[in-house]
Parts: sequence; C-alpha cells; structure tokens
Amino acid sequence: MNPVERSFEKRRKKEEGLFANIYGKRLSFLISYPNYYNLGMANLGFQSIYRILANDERILVDRAFLPYPQEEAYLRTTKTPLFSYTTYMPLRDFDIVAFSISFEPDYLNFIKILELSGIPLYAKDRGDEYPIILIGGIAPSANPLPIEPFADLFVIGEGEKVLKDLIDLLLKERNKCEVLKVLSKWEGVYVPGYTEGKVRRLWIEDVNHYPSETVLYSREQEFPDMHLVEIGRGCGRGCRFCMAGYVYRPVRNRSFSVIRESAKRGKRYRKKIGLVSPSVSDHPEIIEILEEILSEGMGVGISSLRSDSVTRELLYLLKEGGLNTITLAPEVGSEKMRRIINKNIYPELLFEKIEEALSVGIKSIKLYFLVGLPKEEDEDIEEMVSLIRRIIEGFKSIKELILSINPFIPKPHTPFEVFPQEREEIVEKRLSYIEKSLKKRYNKIKILPREIKYYILQGLLSRGGKEISEFLPEIARNGPRRFKRVVPEEISERAIFSLLDPDDLPWKIIDTMVYSEYFEKERTLMEKGRFTPPCPPKGCTLCGVCRNINIGGNR
Ligand code: SF4
Repeated sequence: MNPVERSFEKRRKKEEGLFANIYGKRLSFLISYPNYYNLGMANLGFQSIYRILANDERILVDRAFLPYPQEEAYLRTTKTPLFSYTTYMPLRDFDIVAFSISFEPDYLNFIKILELSGIPLYAKDRGDEYPIILIGGIAPSANPLPIEPFADLFVIGEGEKVLKDLIDLLLKERNKCEVLKVLSKWEGVYVPGYTEGKVRRLWIEDVNHYPSETVLYSREQEFPDMHLVEIGRGCGRGCRFCMAGYVYRPVRNRSFSVIRESAKRGKRYRKKIGLVSPSVSDHPEIIEILEEILSEGMGVGISSLRSDSVTRELLYLLKEGGLNTITLAPEVGSEKMRRIINKNIYPELLFEKIEEALSVGIKSIKLYFLVGLPKEEDEDIEEMVSLIRRIIEGFKSIKELILSINPFIPKPHTPFEVFPQEREEIVEKRLSYIEKSLKKRYNKIKILPREIKYYILQGLLSRGGKEISEFLPEIARNGPRRFKRVVPEEISERAIFSLLDPDDLPWKIIDTMVYSEYFEKERTLMEKGRFTPPCPPKGCTLCGVCRNINIGGNR
C-alpha cells in the first residue's frame, strides 16, 4: 500500500453510514468534490448525489477529493495518477467522473484534479478511452462559460432530477459521442458544441421526494458532530445581491414529517441535527421541528437566521438545543444601502433580536456584512461602523461579537449582474477602515479574516466568459497568487470592471426562468430606493418563475 492509499484507508475506516456498491460491473461512476475531504464530505450537494448513486446497485460508485498537500506531493514525485477513495482506481479509468462545484474558486482545483489524474484537460482532446467529465453545482449552473472547454457536459440546476435517467442512458449507450448527442436534447443539460439555444435549469417540484442530508459521516468533516439536513430550498426574500435567492426559486420547504424521519435516521450516528436552508427561521414549521429534535434528546445547529422571522420562542429552543452563537446578516449599515440591496434589517429590529438572544442566554453574536456593493460610499461604511459600535456599547452582556465582512462580487442572474465590481483598492481601504475603527477599541469584537486576496480572480471566475478559460490551467498550476500576471488587464477591465450590456451577458445561455425584464425593473426600483416585497404565498407572477413552472405563487 502506498502512503496515499494508507491515508485514504485511515480516513475511510473512521467513516460511518451509507457505503456505496463497489462491485457494480456495468458502469463505474466517480463523484468528485474539488476541494479537501473535510469540506467535500460536509457539502449537502455532494452528499445528495452520493446518496442516489450509492443506492443504485447496478453501478460501481466511488469518490475523489482534492488530495491534501502531502498526498499531492507523493502523487507528483512518484508520477502516480490520482485514484479514488475506496477502490484506488485511477480516475481516468472510470466511465464517468462527475464534479459537484459550489464555489467558483474551486474551478482551479477541478483543473488540478484532472491534471493529477492524467486526464487531458480539454474535452476536445479526450477520446472514448477517457471518462465523460460531467459538471454540476450552483456556480457552473449560473455561468458555465469560464470552464466550458474542460467539460463534456454540464447539468444545470438541481441535478438530482436527471441522475437516474442519466445512469439509465449510460448503461444502454456506451459511445461517448452518441451519449452527448442524446443529452444535448435534454432539459437542464448543456453539452458544449451540441446544445442549441438556451438551457433551462432543472428544479425539483416536490423536495420531499429527494432528501438532502448527511448519509456518510466522518469525524474529519466540517461540523463533525452533526447530521445535516436541508429543510428548505430557495428563498423568496429577493435580496438583490444574492444569486442563490434567484436561481433556486421558488421556495420549497420540506415537510415536518420528512424532517422528523431524517432526524431519526441521523440519531443513529450523531447527537446533533444541523438544519440547513437559506434562512432556517423562515420555515413555517420551524418551532415544531425544533421541539421534535429536542424531544428526541438531540442538540441542534443552524446555518442562518433571518432577523425578521426570529422569535423569542425560537431562540429559546435553539439555546435549549445547545446553540451558543446566533448568526444574523444585516449586510449593510445605512438606510440607503438597505433600500439598494432590498434587505430591510433596520437597526431597531436587529437590536430587538440581539436583546432576545441575550435574554435566553445566547451571548455570542455573529454578524455578516458586505463591502463594495453598488452605490456604496464612504458614508455608508461610516454608518456600518456606527451600527456595530451601538451594538457593542449598548449590549454589555454580549460575550463576543464576531464580524464576517466580505468583499462583494456582483453575481450573474441577480439585479446587480450588470454592475461593475468595485476596485480592489477601494474595498481594501474600506475594510481596513472598519478594522481600524473597531478592533483596538473593543476587545469583545472578533473580525474574521477577510478574503480579499483573490477578489479579482473570483470576479473573473464568476462573471467571465469563455475567454477566461484559456488562463485557468496556468493559474491552477502556478497558484492563484500570480494570476494578475497571467490574465491581461484589459480582460479584467472588460469582464468585471465595466458596466455590462444586459443583452450581451455571457451567462444568458442559462434560463433561470426569471423574466429578463425583471432585473431591469429591480434596478429601477433600486435607483428609486424602493423595496420589493418577498414572495407571497400564492397568485404571484412577479419575477416569472412561478408562471413558468405553472404554480402561480410560493409554497
Ligand atoms: S413569481 Fe412571485 S412568488 Fe414566484 S418566485 Fe417570483 S416573486 Fe416569488
């Protein structure tokens, strides 16, 4: 056994839960998460796809992640091609290798994995002897172009929907070219070079039929002590900066009974349930769900709360479930910016929720902010600082105030998609100003490390077109630190620092079912400082999604 096989085995021996069939003979399917094991195993998208594959006895299923640095060094020095986690089969020997990509920076790891596997990077250089390379996940679903030449096909949107049909097809048809031809006609599948016209994203009508939860557990994964369960998909709040808020519409909540069953399954492996959704507190049965978890004697963790749906009862139950920190996301500090982003977490509401949290014994508060939003000025940053000061000075019983302040990138398929990204120097200056104003004076404030280093690269990976792809192999090889030398300045200027033409956006090949005029209308409302109300329970045709899928409102 070589050292990498040993380290895979060591990790595998500590795993519990659903193990995939590794004896299927007719088709070998590898699912890869292009980042380290601890992150991939905690990703619910990865776990959901793995669950469907692992339950299909017809196929051999295995996993691969980005190797840790020591593992990578061994593979490179010994020229050993990257192999899978359980069967140690080289990736290039699988019939299909599927990547689940949630974050754009992981495009570089995806390329690195292909390179470490000895699989030619470009689809055009891969003959029938190489696996089909499939890419899914929210980042490429929104804009596949920056990595288009490396993929044989993209599954756009909620991939669970087509996975079984895809396996059926691959079991019947082995010729790669024929498979791609057939797939190019499917809704939600984008086959570069074959697909004609726009690709409409896939969505699941009844999420209760598709559980999304931890099925394979490891103590090495993020949130090692939790059974994670997605309680709802989509968010109808309409924050103008949030891509997930538009590409996962409409809101679909899992029912109480489905979540209860999931919690029971999780109880066999973990003592805590981690509830995941864009906003856990928006679930209409959240109180019943928490009461059920507590009555089972389990603890609870949550992804995020929305200040305007948090109640004292909810906070009390969360505290009972062992939660010691609540996370709220005001995002901005001024009324002007609240109206621009369409998120009305005004100071009094925030103070009220902090007060309630403290009253039930939750003493640690985490707040999310964004810097570099469209129309933002120095005065708005000033107001952000003053809001934070009012909190730390006004609530003496706060034990710790954690601030996560991130540079903003205008994302595809949002009203902000056409706006130029803010200049790095300005974002840097504003972030430093916030830090200087707060850090030394208040020892209870903890500011999480900011992620500005690759701000421009991230913008390019999110918003670039096909022209970005030619630089990615070199950036992946030499590390992102030197990317500015690789990508000509005029490309960044055009792709991310200019006002884009709404009719000529690279990601227009993806149809999210939102009317194209809707974002234009949202931008007009933004200019006027007007709020757009959240998705109503029914009868709405505002953004077009519900009309397109014929449900006429939220659920
Ligand atoms: S049509 Fe209305 S309810 Fe449906 S997603 Fe759009 S805004 Fe929300």
